[in-house]
Amino acid sequence: MPLAHLNIGSNQGDRLGYINRAISLIDLMAGRVVAKSDFVESEPWGFDSVNRFYNVGVNITTDLEPEKLLDKLQQIEREIASEPHRNPDGSYRDRPIDIDIILYGDVIMSTERLTIPHPHMCERDFVIRPLLQISTTGQFPGLNQ
Ligand code: AMP
Repeated sequence: MPLAHLNIGSNQGDRLGYINRAISLIDLMAGRVVAKSDFVESEPWGFDSVNRFYNVGVNITTDLEPEKLLDKLQQIEREIASEPHRNPDGSYRDRPIDIDIILYGDVIMSTERLTIPHPHMCERDFVIRPLLQISTTGQFPGLNQ
């Protein structure tokens, strides 16, 4: 079964509570959570806010194809909090929960809805640190190591 790496973040409300709820729902609805990193706390990336993020990385094994996995993760995001992630102009804003697919096995793909590996993963410490903590291989497809 494919192994995927997800990054879960929150910078609003009960941050750790939302993230832990997301992990439970992912395990219930999207795949089996087989590893979880420590939490990292950081400044918002790409926008200004006084609210710091917590992020965590998880590895899951899943039967769902990448786009179906994204559907499930977006369903889980909506279940936890219905606020939009972006302002009407497309800029980032505070969010109670955000779940990104960082890696999905060896898959390299780009569609209108989904790019894997996640296009900004290497620029984001809060993605790389959790990933390196629980990576099983240290090898990342399509990336110049
Ligand atoms: P955001 O609102 O910042 O959470 O961005 C979510 C949007 O990014 C959604 O419309 C997704 O279709 C798109 N997206 C593209 N690649 C990915 C990915 N690897 N993981 C999660 N969302 C993605």
